[in-house]
Amino acid sequence: MTKKILVTGGAGFLGSHLCERLLEQGHEVLCVDNYFTGAKANIRHLLEIPQFELMRHDVTFPLYVEVDEIYNLACPASPIHYQHDPVQTTKTSVHGAINMLGLAKRVNAKILQASTSEVYGDPSVHPQSESYWGNVNPIGIRSCYDEGKRCAETLFFDYHRQHSVGIKVMRIFNTYGPRMHPNDGRVVSNFIVQALKGDPITIYGEGQQTRSFCYVDDLITGMILLMETGANITGPINIGNPNEFTILELAQRVIELTGSKSELVYKPLPGDDPQQRQPDISLAEQELGWNPTIALDQGLEKTIAYFRSVI
Ligand code: NAD
Ligand code: UDP
Ligand code: UDP
Repeated sequence: MTKKILVTGGAGFLGSHLCERLLEQGHEVLCVDNYFTGAKANIRHLLEIPQFELMRHDVTFPLYVEVDEIYNLACPASPIHYQHDPVQTTKTSVHGAINMLGLAKRVNAKILQASTSEVYGDPSVHPQSESYWGNVNPIGIRSCYDEGKRCAETLFFDYHRQHSVGIKVMRIFNTYGPRMHPNDGRVVSNFIVQALKGDPITIYGEGQQTRSFCYVDDLITGMILLMETGANITGPINIGNPNEFTILELAQRVIELTGSKSELVYKPLPGDDPQQRQPDISLAEQELGWNPTIALDQGLEKTIAYFRSVI
C-alpha cells in the first residue's frame, strides 16, 4: 500500500538514506528540513522523482500537512553542531516533538522519534538495555542534546497515553556511512577525512573510550521495521551494532583501510564524554527480527569510498 510519509530532517545524513529507501518501496515522501546541518546535495538525486517533495521548514514552528506516517529526525546530531546553538537544539527536540505530535494527533498518523543512546548519558550499566534510565548531566555542554531528546521521549509517551497517538521510539547508537558531513566532527568522518588528507588523526583523551558503530543501511532497515510494527509496540527500542571498539582501535582500522601515513595525535577529552557505549539489542532481535549485517571493515570501506569522492 502506498503511504504518504513525512520525514523531518530528511536532507541530513540518516534522513536522506531513509527518504531514498521509502521511495524505493513506492511511497510518497515529503522531506522537511531547515538545512541547518543537512544539504540539498544529499537529496538532489531524488528531486526528479515525482513521489518526492522537498520543503524548507523549521520544525519548531507548526506544520499543517496531511500524511499517514511521520519519521521525526530533525535535530543536529554531532556535538559541534548541537553545541553551536544549544538553545535552538533543545527547542528543536522539544518544540519540534510537540508540533510533530500535534500533527500526528490531528491526522491520526503513526510517528517515529529518532531518539539516541545519549539518553543513557555516561552509562553505569554496560551494555545498555532499554530498561536502564541513564546517567545524564542535566546542566553540562551535552545536555541540550541529551535532555532535549529525553524530554522528546517523555512527550511521545504522554501523547500516547493521553491522546492515543501511535508512537515508535527508537534509540539510535552511533551510526556512520556515506553522506556524513565531512566537517561535523564525529569520530568516523573526522578519522577518514584526516587519513585521506594525510593529516594527524585526532584521538581525544587516551582513546580507550569505546563506541559501537552501525552502518547506515542496517540502521534504516531497523527504523522501517520498527515503524511497521503493530500498535502494541511503542519502544523505546535500541538499534545499533553491538560490536564495540575503542577509539584507538577505530583509528587503526581507518589507517589500515585507507593505507594512510597519518600519525596519531592526542587531544584533551571533551566534557561529559561517555567512557563506554554498547547497545543491548535483544529487544530489537525479539520484536523486529532485526540484526545488523554489515561489519565495521565492510562499512568503513564504503564510507571511505564516499569520502574519497567528495573531499
Ligand atoms: P544530521 O545533522 O545529518 O541530520 C539532521 C537533519 O535535521 C539535518 O538535515 C538538519 O538540517 C535538520 N534539522 C536540524 N534542525 C532542524 C529544525 N529545527 N527544523 C528542520 N530541520 C532541522 O544528523 P543525522 O546523523 O542524520 O541524525 C538524524 C537524527 O538521528 C537526529 O535526530 C539525531 O539526533 C538522531 N541520531 C543520530 C545518530 C547518528 O549516529 N547519526 C545517533 C543517534 C541519534
Ligand atoms: N500542530 C501542528 N500541526 C498540526 C496540528 C498541531 O504543527 O497539524 C502543532 C500546533 O502548533 C500545536 C502543537 O502541534 O501547538 C501541539 O498540538 P496539540 O493539538 O497537542 O496542542 P494544542 O493545539 O492544543 O496546543
Ligand atoms: N573522538 C575522537 N576524535 C575525534 C572525534 C571524536 O577521539 O576527532 C572521540 C570522542 O571524544 C568520543 C568518540 O570519539 O569519545 C565518539 O565521538 P562522536 O562525536 O563521533 O560521537 P558521540 O561522542 O556523540 O558518541
